[in-house]
Amino acid sequence: MATLLWLKRELRLADNPALQWALARGEPVIPVVIQAPEELAPWAPGPASNWWLHHSLKALDGQLRRLGGRLILRRGPTPEALSQLAKATGATAVAWNTSCDPVARQRERHVAERLRAAGQRVSEHSADLLFPPELVHAANGNPYKVFTPWYKACSRLPEPREPEEAPTRWLSPETWPDSLSLDALELLPKRAWADEFGTHWQPGEAGANEKLERFLEEALGEYPEARDRPDKQGTSRLSPHLHFGELSPHQLWHAARAYTLAHERPGLIRGEEAWLRQLAWREFAHHLLLHFPETDHQPLYEKYRQLPWRDEPAALRAWQRGQTGYPLIDAGMRELWTTGWMHNRVRMLVGSFLVKDLLIHWLEGATWFWSTLVDADLANNTLGWQWVAGCGADAAPWFRIFNPVTQSRTFDPLGTYIRRWVPELADLPDQHLHAPWLAPVATLRSAGIQLGSSYPGPIGDHAQARLRALDAFDAVR
Ligand code: FAD
Repeated sequence: MATLLWLKRELRLADNPALQWALARGEPVIPVVIQAPEELAPWAPGPASNWWLHHSLKALDGQLRRLGGRLILRRGPTPEALSQLAKATGATAVAWNTSCDPVARQRERHVAERLRAAGQRVSEHSADLLFPPELVHAANGNPYKVFTPWYKACSRLPEPREPEEAPTRWLSPETWPDSLSLDALELLPKRAWADEFGTHWQPGEAGANEKLERFLEEALGEYPEARDRPDKQGTSRLSPHLHFGELSPHQLWHAARAYTLAHERPGLIRGEEAWLRQLAWREFAHHLLLHFPETDHQPLYEKYRQLPWRDEPAALRAWQRGQTGYPLIDAGMRELWTTGWMHNRVRMLVGSFLVKDLLIHWLEGATWFWSTLVDADLANNTLGWQWVAGCGADAAPWFRIFNPVTQSRTFDPLGTYIRRWVPELADLPDQHLHAPWLAPVATLRSAGIQLGSSYPGPIGDHAQARLRALDAFDAVR
């Protein structure tokens, strides 16, 4: 007899409810990951996510082996793979943590049905949410579409549960079933594009915990001021670790609480509040996607379906490659391409630029982010893009259009971020760095810049693009 532990995106040993349940049965536990991306279409993980997954699985297998266990890798279809494995190992139960993404959840229901029909015991657990979505609703029973009342309703609920420790020993079967090798899953991109990711990230539970500790120690106190500054290390960069479940939101919640209680430093309480509020935005995004599953491809508000989006492949390409001629936009898009991540403030700015300045459909942006972000997350990405497009829950008002130059001056005042990611502009004096096309020719020349060849001129005029977007949004609102 044994228990199968079907792991999807909860790649951790600590605070893993399905794992705790499986171990508590007192029988050997066989952790299994099934590669079946087609079952998650149209949002099968993109290449950057797959890079992360490869390294995260490697780290998890290493942890399991140190306890005497191991990770079994199989290919889908999932119901068949789980049934065969149960048969081969004599497993009588299958446990997993549930997903919030609509397609993934649908798949779990289907798998549960098939396994139960075959006589298996199925045990599903909630691991990824701090507050049960069914308990957070307006007085009339409807789901909230605005963050602040939603957050207030959450804060009237009991505090999220304390996280559980990782097991210290494993219950192994006498013989382990066959497993594919990690390389056989072919998760790593064929092109060398992602090679540099490893210098920025350490996927896996150990890397996640290290990053959390460093953030609490070095940045939590200054978070309210520094979180909007892409030129600083002001945020935690935990988003890919959270997406892959290498840390649970419960662990983050209680770690921040415990840290502020244990350290008397000015600013910590404000920092904790601001950071937990951001963590709550993640939760809000997940609740929204559960309530409104169609928002991964449709605006939450129907009227915005009529927007006259432009089909401009050359402009889209310039945006994707960081060649728009607007330095902060280009810096963000190049940071994304090189590291698989982009700062939140810059995500808002590049998003607004695509959707409002270029009037290109937000789904084009969401799809590009989906392929290139290591933290690509359907709930957060959907919320983020509908926010910038002004068509989703608690979104930026349709008439709010970020000016890419003034935003650049405000949030990267010394140009540190731009100089890092757009090195061809590094020698421009600060006052010209944010809008090189306004710099005198002699200044450009002495900085070694020839607009149109060493760096592009601006892809469009922001003032005109703003008016065009206002007209387009005004017509449908
Ligand atoms: P911190 O500031 O340290 O925050 C801690 C955690 O809170 C984050 O790791 C994240 O899980 C959560 N969080 C913070 N801000 C937000 C937010 N605005 N919305 C939802 N959750 C938040 N986040 C993703 O994880 N995956 C995505 O695919 C994604 N796509 C986005 C697309 C757009 C257009 C925009 C504007 C935002 C998107 N975000 C996405 C949200 C946000 O940019 C990232 O979560 C954040 O930059 C991660 O950095 P951090 O871990 O340092 O965050």
